[in-house]
Amino acid sequence: MSLSLTTEQIERYSRQILVPDFGGKGQIRLRQGRILIIGAGGLGSPSAFYLAAAGAGTLGLIDADNVELSNLQRQILHATADLGKAKVESGKETLTQLNPDVEVITYPVRLGSDNIEELFSQYQFIIDGSDNFETKFLVNDAAVRLKKAYSHAGIVRWQGQTMTVIPGKTACYRCLFKEPPPPAEILNCQQSGILGAVAGTIGSIQATEAIKYLIGFEEGLLTDRLLTYDARAMKFHQVEVRKDPDCAACRPLMTTETPVSKIILE
Ligand code: ZN
Repeated sequence: MSLSLTTEQIERYSRQILVPDFGGKGQIRLRQGRILIIGAGGLGSPSAFYLAAAGAGTLGLIDADNVELSNLQRQILHATADLGKAKVESGKETLTQLNPDVEVITYPVRLGSDNIEELFSQYQFIIDGSDNFETKFLVNDAAVRLKKAYSHAGIVRWQGQTMTVIPGKTACYRCLFKEPPPPAEILNCQQSGILGAVAGTIGSIQATEAIKYLIGFEEGLLTDRLLTYDARAMKFHQVEVRKDPDCAACRPLMTTETPVSKIILE
């Protein structure tokens, strides 16, 4: 991939090239970036949209579902004419129309422990737009194991939350939540509803975090803190998250990083 920008690219991306700490260098880095987006749904739609518009080089889209009418209120990658289509195909069409510069790789499969490592290993940053706790913990644990930076997020009703994890450096999702809640306590979009614009706000934050990470602007990342958004009260809050020395996901990582000589001496 070329390390310079064409005249057309300079014009397309001019408003962000002007932004301090982004610039032409940021644009070139972003073009070399590879981001995997889990779910072409409420969170994946806005994050993929903004990443494609910004000129991210390669976007992986993973989703096993087809577009349904009840998706369209928030999953803005898809239009009425896409009903019944695979979400990843509909998403790819939308993103490619927006920006033909972006390569979109589609995975019409369900993410599971059998395919997660192979998928993650091909990308630099992961956006978790999944809608269930089982996947969120699977994503966290695989990202920590493979040392892949990723953005966690969850949304329900009027509320959203998000946090960025840089494995080996910052607290992970399991440092905070330990394990999935009992099924009786779980609220999801299907049962509880979600305001589409709330998904848009949180998904846009995830895209921003991916961009910052890929251009090497790491100091302001949303790490070691959980950002919560209450749209009903229109309030954002931050909760500090500490790395848990007994975290089931992080702890083995720290052990494997310990030099062998040190283990023997101890
Ligand atoms: Zn942890």
